[in-house]
Amino acid sequence: MNKPTRNQDALNYHSKGRPGKIQVIPTKPTNSQRDLSMAYSPGVAEPCLRIADNVDDVYKYTAKGNLVGVITNGTAVLGLGNIGPEASKPVMEGKGLLFKIYADIDVFDLEVNAKTVDEFVSIVKALEPTFGGINLEDISAPTCFEIERRLKAEMKIPVMHDDQHGTAIISGAALINACEIQGKKLDKIKMVVNGAGAAAVSCSKMYLALGVKKENLVMFDVNGLITPVRTDLDDIRLEFATTRKDAKTLAEAMKDADVFVGLSAGNVVTPDMLKSMAKNPVVFAMANPTPEIAYDLAVNARKDIIMATGRSDFPNQVNNVLGFPYIFRGALDVRATAINEEMKIAAVKAIADMAKKPIPEAVNLAYNTTNLKFGRDYIIPKPMDPRLITEVSSAVARAAMESGVARKAITDWDAYTEELRS
Ligand code: NAP
Ligand code: MG
Repeated sequence: MNKPTRNQDALNYHSKGRPGKIQVIPTKPTNSQRDLSMAYSPGVAEPCLRIADNVDDVYKYTAKGNLVGVITNGTAVLGLGNIGPEASKPVMEGKGLLFKIYADIDVFDLEVNAKTVDEFVSIVKALEPTFGGINLEDISAPTCFEIERRLKAEMKIPVMHDDQHGTAIISGAALINACEIQGKKLDKIKMVVNGAGAAAVSCSKMYLALGVKKENLVMFDVNGLITPVRTDLDDIRLEFATTRKDAKTLAEAMKDADVFVGLSAGNVVTPDMLKSMAKNPVVFAMANPTPEIAYDLAVNARKDIIMATGRSDFPNQVNNVLGFPYIFRGALDVRATAINEEMKIAAVKAIADMAKKPIPEAVNLAYNTTNLKFGRDYIIPKPMDPRLITEVSSAVARAAMESGVARKAITDWDAYTEELRS
């Protein structure tokens, strides 16, 4: 399909019938006057009074416990940049749609006119009574770091900035598996991270948590290598500063590196750079929609490469949808007060482990393949794998309970798994 046709198709998809992609549907009978007198006045006063007496009853009598706020200020939308809150709405509705179809979580998408940290934080904080969890979305760096830090500290419901942590979790799982296939140990690999934005910083933190050594990681932003002598950097980036003298340019750093992680811009890596990497290299070129190096160029440059991108038209797509629906599902189901490091690592491991198990026939059918098998071209599960909801959500719920942030316990795990499956 050529591009103009596809563009028009996308516009038609959004505008056809009722504009947009989501609607609100009542969950209780509304057929009679009696039904309506319970749904609204006078019957509705009863649950109001119960909740006024015991605020936790809000989970019993309202949709709060299954409702996530997808909230943005539209400052870093997809790869489109600072296009504003209205222009971000199709993306946020899309995120709501994915939450619903993959994990049956309801979403209100909120696009707010708030550019400063204080303004944004005070708006989101004030919404705590409404939501069971908050998915921050497409907020530019560096304000996204401060916004998330403050909201996590000040709110008692789970808050996660998906562009940071979703990417870190999925690429972390991909890293574990790629290194296993390539025979590399995480605590030994030399890693180059290109990009020092929201995704790169958060992914790098995750890789360190998974065992990568800080002294083996070098990071670049658009101005070059992150070093302690640079005066244009905030503390968040300086955490990844290196004193290495042999990595002044990206080309120099790539020499003998085991892993390249790109979260920067399209076409900034050359085949020669890949040729200079160590044996059995791992290359995650995740800039969207144009990766740091095109898939075909990369696999032609090195036969021994494991290559992943953010794109669905090549193997090994690092796609956040493998994570966020199920991370929130698990967190909501134990009424967690946070999404903490333990829960994120549990998600990483669950996703990584799943890829090594035999693939259900439904997945082969959905992707029109016959032979998906753990290996170079399949290092992480596919988005339509029906096991994700049971494996990832229960791992996250369990980790929430074990790390002390769950306010509700799951005791019958078989019944819970069954419920997730249905
Ligand atoms: P961001 O906060 O804007 O960060 C972009 C970073 O890349 C900045 O640090 C920027 O440097 C740096 N950069 C830009 N051009 C560069 C170049 N030529 N060489 C080195 N560094 C360069 O954006 P983000 O949210 O982190 O996302 C970054 C990219 O990753 C985007 O393309 C996004 O679509 C992609 N991404 C993919 C996935 C996925 O595949 N699942 C997930 C998240 C993000 P300065 O700081 O100096 O400006
Ligand atoms: Mg996003």
